[in-house]
Amino acid sequence: MAVKVLLVEDERRIADFVCDGLGARGLSVEHVDNGHAGYARASEGHFDIIILDIMLPGRDGLSILSELRKKSIATPVILLTARNELGDRVKGLDLGADDYLAKPFYVEELASRINALVRRDHQSALQVGSIRLDRVSRQASCNGQAIDLTSREFNLLEYLMRSPGEVFTRAQMLEHVWGYDFDPSTNVVDVCVKRIRAKINELSVTHDDKSPIEAVRGSGYRFRLVQSS
Ligand code: CA
Repeated sequence: MAVKVLLVEDERRIADFVCDGLGARGLSVEHVDNGHAGYARASEGHFDIIILDIMLPGRDGLSILSELRKKSIATPVILLTARNELGDRVKGLDLGADDYLAKPFYVEELASRINALVRRDHQSALQVGSIRLDRVSRQASCNGQAIDLTSREFNLLEYLMRSPGEVFTRAQMLEHVWGYDFDPSTNVVDVCVKRIRAKINELSVTHDDKSPIEAVRGSGYRFRLVQSS
């Protein structure tokens, strides 16, 4: 699947060469030219990486970044800065930017920064549809927004997400996630699934109406297989 890039940049010339250069390298780039649209698209969270200019009409890049991180949207961000904006660069990194690039820059340089960040992000992560698990930090997120799971809930979600579409019985889930033989009549699995669903439902990011964990009557549960876009 192509790496999905959101480019928020008001200078037409820069936007054009970034779109062309990244497009030619097989990346999929969506461009918006003002801060309000940039924030709106970025907070929907469907991107692998966000390239964010600092000086923008409507709303500046640093305020967008700070708001995204406040909402626990962890999509990697590369800031584009002017040569004389050293203070902004430092502030940007403090606010949670992953990298920055001073203008003017070569698109090769931008592409290699993107690759490094996306690779770093993907190695430790398991993603199916809108749900993503970071196995190093043990943090789950939905479209970029953190889901506050207990360790048990995380393990259950990871177990199902390793084989999306496959049905697991309650006994299998008990054995793998709880690690010992429970009375099969116990409802701990159902309670745990219910809590995970509720935590995903209360998020403010847009997500599918259907729960990613699907009950299969008489059998157990499976992680919903999503159509890739
Ligand atoms: Ca600008």
